Amino acid sequence: METASLTGKEAAAALNAETTELAAALAARGRAPRLALVVANADPASAWYVNSLRKSATNRGIECDTIDLGTDADSAGLRAELAARTADPAVDAIMLQTPLPAGVKLEDVAAAIGAEKDVDGVSPLSLGLLAANTPVFAPATAEAVVVLLKRHGIELTGRHVAVVGRSNVVGKPLAQLLLAENATVTVAHSRTADLAAVTSAADIVVAAAGRAGLIRAEHVREGAVVIDVGTNEGPDGSIVGDVDAESVRGRAAALSPVPGGVGPVTTALLMRHVVRAAERSAQV
Ligand code: NAP
Repeated sequence: METASLTGKEAAAALNAETTELAAALAARGRAPRLALVVANADPASAWYVNSLRKSATNRGIECDTIDLGTDADSAGLRAELAARTADPAVDAIMLQTPLPAGVKLEDVAAAIGAEKDVDGVSPLSLGLLAANTPVFAPATAEAVVVLLKRHGIELTGRHVAVVGRSNVVGKPLAQLLLAENATVTVAHSRTADLAAVTSAADIVVAAAGRAGLIRAEHVREGAVVIDVGTNEGPDGSIVGDVDAESVRGRAAALSPVPGGVGPVTTALLMRHVVRAAERSAQV
């Protein structure tokens, strides 16, 4: 079987074109959208990601401030910063970068981001609103998986989707989004007794475990669709997914590449969310 490549380039380009137009319209009405990136780490991968977000924002006509609180920041300091940016009418959108300093829990500090500015949907309130089917912003990576599937014309209604991973940023919100699309969802995790039995029963497998090469041919039913969310460092320093592409190719009907699959759609959705937050604040 030929395995199609579910690239994210087309979906990202369409979203980016729309975002650029909407950002220009907001600027013409008085103020360009503004994103605050709050950082408290010295992690090279995070620095790379912040840089790529800044570039992406600039290319779309979005103003971007980076607030680096340093690795000594504590929960109280982070919460105060996030609350101040939430209260600042000049800021439309806030993103908190991970990793956070040792001892700081994401759910504790993210609660200080107002839901209307929480463009990556990380706060407990944002996650609760998503679970209640009334989201303001869903986590962009989870939403990117659904956008990518739809863009490639993959039906979700009535399909069985196995999500591997139950984190608050990817697996759990993705399960909620898939339920809202009328899929039947199974969520697997590190304590799942027989992962291959769970995933090979599914029409669509989404790998979001952060384990290079976890998903192999035996985890995938012939003709299934496989989405790879994983971004892991390979032995040569390159980025590799959670799916062993060589093993799955020829068995799956379609597979999203890493890099170039979920990643570009995630970034494009984040920028789209920033503009939506700015549109909402312009109306208030
Ligand atoms: P995470 O917080 O570490 O969660 C990983 C999840 O996978 C956990 O629920 C864990 O189970 C489960 N897991 C770990 N090993 C497993 C195994 N052997 N079998 C089954 N399940 C296993 O990671 P995350 O933040 O959700 O991110 C997941 C991956 O997506 C990472 O590679 C990350 O870099 C990537 N990511 C990509 C994007 C993008 O835009 N492309 C954005 C965000 C994240 P337990 O709960 O039992 O520990």
